[in-house]
Amino acid sequence: MRVIGRRIEGLEMPAVEKISERQQREPFHILISTLLSARTQDATTLAASTRLFAKAPTPAAVARLTPRQIEKLIYPVGFYRHKAAFVRAAAKMIVTKFGGNVPRTMAELVTIPGVGRKTANLVLIVAFQSDEHICVDIHVHRISNRLGWVQTRTPEETEQALYRSIEQRWWPLLNHYLVTWGQNVCRPVRPRCNECPIVTSCGRVGVSW
Ligand code: SF4
Repeated sequence: MRVIGRRIEGLEMPAVEKISERQQREPFHILISTLLSARTQDATTLAASTRLFAKAPTPAAVARLTPRQIEKLIYPVGFYRHKAAFVRAAAKMIVTKFGGNVPRTMAELVTIPGVGRKTANLVLIVAFQSDEHICVDIHVHRISNRLGWVQTRTPEETEQALYRSIEQRWWPLLNHYLVTWGQNVCRPVRPRCNECPIVTSCGRVGVSW
């Protein structure tokens, strides 16, 4: 983790982290941009989030938009119609059930439409600075298995296995490190093993070149 941390310094950050920095860790913006980021390129997520929050910066303001308005603002993120419905429903629930504030517990977060463990963990880590969670998306799942840190079939299994195998001080950093690592070095296809500084400690599980 130390080597990866040094190597990713200066590299492009994941979209949600950029939004977090720009928006001063505003929990609602982090939650919504994480919803928008699924199956969508970082630059598209960033642009869509920026347009949406410029028009409607609060849960109440987003809840007042029509689905069509939200669709237009977030297009062309992947599945933008479905996501527009989730964004509006999430904003409404935050207003009506949580007094306009994003809740701070996993149990409450996963009751919000469109929010699963991945999004909830990222909100808890990035917005509320929790050091008790690991956010496992498809990149973290893929790379953890490739490195040989875990042997799991799903991101949910990976999350639980990582709690057991990684020291807690690294938990909040794991997503940022491995997503950036996966975009730049340990790419899904043809990872750059020849120039990888952790090749001697990597299991290279499933890598055949
Ligand atoms: S050695 Fe290859 S598979 Fe292992 S972390 Fe580096 S790039 Fe990824």
